[in-house]
Amino acid sequence: MSLLVVGTVAFDAIETPFGKTDKIVGGAATYISLAASFHTKDIGLVSVVGGDFPKEKIAFLNSKGIDTSGLEIKEDEKSFFWSGKYHNDMNTRDTLATELNVLLDFDPKVPNDQTAPDFLMLGNLDPDLQAKVLDQMTKRPKLIAMDTMNFWMDMKLDQLKKNIARIDVLTINDEEARQLSGEYSLVKAAKLILSWGPKYLIIKKGEHGALLFDKENNVFFAPALPLEEVFDPTGAGDSFAGGFIGYLAATKDISFDNLKRAVIIGSAMASFTVEKFGTQRLEAISPQEVDQRLQAFNNLVQVDIALAH
Ligand code: AMP
Repeated sequence: MSLLVVGTVAFDAIETPFGKTDKIVGGAATYISLAASFHTKDIGLVSVVGGDFPKEKIAFLNSKGIDTSGLEIKEDEKSFFWSGKYHNDMNTRDTLATELNVLLDFDPKVPNDQTAPDFLMLGNLDPDLQAKVLDQMTKRPKLIAMDTMNFWMDMKLDQLKKNIARIDVLTINDEEARQLSGEYSLVKAAKLILSWGPKYLIIKKGEHGALLFDKENNVFFAPALPLEEVFDPTGAGDSFAGGFIGYLAATKDISFDNLKRAVIIGSAMASFTVEKFGTQRLEAISPQEVDQRLQAFNNLVQVDIALAH
């Protein structure tokens, strides 16, 4: 298996200044695996849903090369539900509801043929469950990336820190980096978090792009593409993670230079997601559109500049 993705597969209800949705399909692992599927096939998805989750969505994921044999369906229970409301700047949001439902007694089981993936992406999920998946790996993946959020920092900080010591790349947003480290400066926050174990830290800054740090104090910055309309930022971070790990899984190169490319691919995938509610945009992108967007990123950051001396 090239890439194993773990995380929530969920229903979301979203409110933005542009409108409101009823329950729509979301979840960290949904966005991650869809975004990754543009870059690599042979993806396994480990998660859980209730009997209320639409079977045609699962079939759609399968049509994108995502193997859902590790997606448990608990017919008599309800899927994880999250609801959030964005402020006018679209960079900040309030969580209105988090109903764990099927997640409460979820015991993830990685299918036997998926326990030795080349790449592992632990999407946002209860840190105890992320650890259970790590424990089931029969061979250490080439690279393990993990995402999390403030909710789990509040609820399960000890387990989260144990997980951080076992992975290679942590992806969090700026607010979460500050909460986790207790440092306001993102450079100091990165230094501290990297001292806990991971080789790389990615700090996502919404419309202000993303920073990639390594232990040798190298920093790379990828801007977010300036978009005329940001409709719904939900899943931007997960689409970023999916593009990032999907590209690494496709190229199998984990050098810092290739991680920089992966950060740009991640930013490109996130820029699609925010253009429509939920996974709608991600479900309908063409390879040509991905190419055009990568070109737009190239144009955005390329400059020839002579040194003064
Ligand atoms: P993002 O906008 O990238 O931070 O991710 C939004 C997705 O995360 C939504 O589709 C939610 O279903 C999912 N989500 C929200 N809260 C949690 C949580 N506490 N644990 C796991 N996934 C969550």
